[in-house]
Amino acid sequence: MTSPSTDVLDKPLDSGTGNGPEMFHYVRKAKIAESAVMGNYVVALCGETFPVTKSAKPGSPVCPACERIFKQLPLGKD
Ligand SMILES: [Zn+2]
Repeated sequence: MTSPSTDVLDKPLDSGTGNGPEMFHYVRKAKIAESAVMGNYVVALCGETFPVTKSAKPGSPVCPACERIFKQLPLGKD
């Protein structure tokens, strides 16, 4: 394996508040699959939790905390 089993997901905006930027978060693919089956929230690498959405918006910034953690992940050890 040469790549970590991690994918990016779009964190949806909290409806109504308009508070905080919309960002992509890195989420383990296993978590995404589990969430799709169980209907629960996914947990991003940075610890953010949010419901899975398939409507990722191009151009959204990547969560800097997730990106930092993602770069420190050991490759091929997942
Ligand atoms: Zn994040």
